[in-house]
Amino acid sequence: MSTIIRASAPAKVNLVFEVGQLASDGYHPVNSLFFALDLREELTLVKGEPGTGISIYVHGDSIPEAHINAVPTDHSNLVHKTAVLFAQKLGKATPDLQIDIHKRIPVAGGMAGGSADAAAMLVALNEFMHQEHGTEKLSIEELAVIGAELGSDVPFCLYGSLAIGTGRGEVITPLEGLSFETNWLLCASSKGLSTPTVFAAFDELDTETQFTDLAELSKTSSATELGSRMTNDLEQAAFSLMPSLSQQVRELEELGAIRAMVSGSGPTIAALFESEAKAIEVSKALNSQGVVALTAKGGAQGARLDG
Ligand code: ATP
Repeated sequence: MSTIIRASAPAKVNLVFEVGQLASDGYHPVNSLFFALDLREELTLVKGEPGTGISIYVHGDSIPEAHINAVPTDHSNLVHKTAVLFAQKLGKATPDLQIDIHKRIPVAGGMAGGSADAAAMLVALNEFMHQEHGTEKLSIEELAVIGAELGSDVPFCLYGSLAIGTGRGEVITPLEGLSFETNWLLCASSKGLSTPTVFAAFDELDTETQFTDLAELSKTSSATELGSRMTNDLEQAAFSLMPSLSQQVRELEELGAIRAMVSGSGPTIAALFESEAKAIEVSKALNSQGVVALTAKGGAQGARLDG
């Protein structure tokens, strides 16, 4: 029977996203409080016939079709890059694989969709290469080192839960989870925002940032307190590129969100609600107006094998 491996990885929101000045390496240092949501990408790997290479199939019905169509299925898909890099690190040939990606995370939405796919792929490949080629399984720390070469958010998608990300966001310090439940509503946009474009707009705004103690902030005791301490240095830059976002943030707060904020580089808006019932009620109202609004709970597990 052919080898089949299933794995999944969570979306992220940045509860706090502090961005420093552009450094000489062309990157911005960040100080971020990452939080994983139970909106999971699901990946299935099936061993391909010898010599058939890698084929990728992307689908999903909870996000707009335009998002699914925006995901490449060739060698530029992050999952394809992950397979090539992982095999290279093990000193093996890239395996022949049929890869099925069930997408639930809005694409180019600042929620690390591609990075979650890469993280799930790393976990799946770790198992696949062990079963098929007898390679030693790598630890999460070792997978995170490879993940950082693929994208700054990949290490966090491996760890999940709650963590501080520094460097470019790829240096992860895992934290104890929050002591209370969080309920989220994610408002996806039909158009994406490219992360580099948002950082370029941030540079134009010439903002001064002080990095804060995020470990201390993670000890907040209620959703209301957390909401009052959420910040995103990229939010004004995202607003400048997509002015409708600031109105959406206001509207979500008027509809009862404790706090609504652009997620990472946007344009998805993450809104924190006091209860799951309220988040679902608002999402239904928005869905009936044609807005893609997804609900999720916070504190999800990182990338894992699924039975
Ligand atoms: P981040 O929050 O990590 O900055 P994002 O969530 O804003 O990322 P992604 O959904 O990862 O953005 O997609 C960014 C771009 O990457 C897409 O426009 C797409 O062309 C490309 N891409 C490559 N592989 C994938 C993948 N597996 N899933 C989604 N997008 C991918």
